[in-house]
Amino acid sequence: MIHVEHSEGARLTILGKTCRLCLVCEMLIAHDADIARLLVASGVAAESESPACLVRGTVAPRVWRAGLARGVTLEAVRASMADFKQYMRVEVTPGGWYREAETVRKP
Ligand SMILES: [Zn+2]
Repeated sequence: MIHVEHSEGARLTILGKTCRLCLVCEMLIAHDADIARLLVASGVAAESESPACLVRGTVAPRVWRAGLARGVTLEAVRASMADFKQYMRVEVTPGGWYREAETVRKP
């Protein structure tokens, strides 16, 4: 379940997206660009904007499927939703050689 900011008001949506899972860390891994692409493709976010969104948690596939036919209530979604304990944003710098001026400065 994803909370999406929108110029016409914030929205909640459920994407039928699976993510990679790190069993060691018990962490779900999703790429920002993949989620943004799905939000635009599903019409939840406008094509021109890079959607500001927050993934709130996961829901059972049967709830997502019921949502496709608009046969699910917010209460049913809340009841089946698993919240996340913690959020982490990971930035990746591609490997390789950089000149000194090109090195990434840490804040
Ligand atoms: Zn891990």
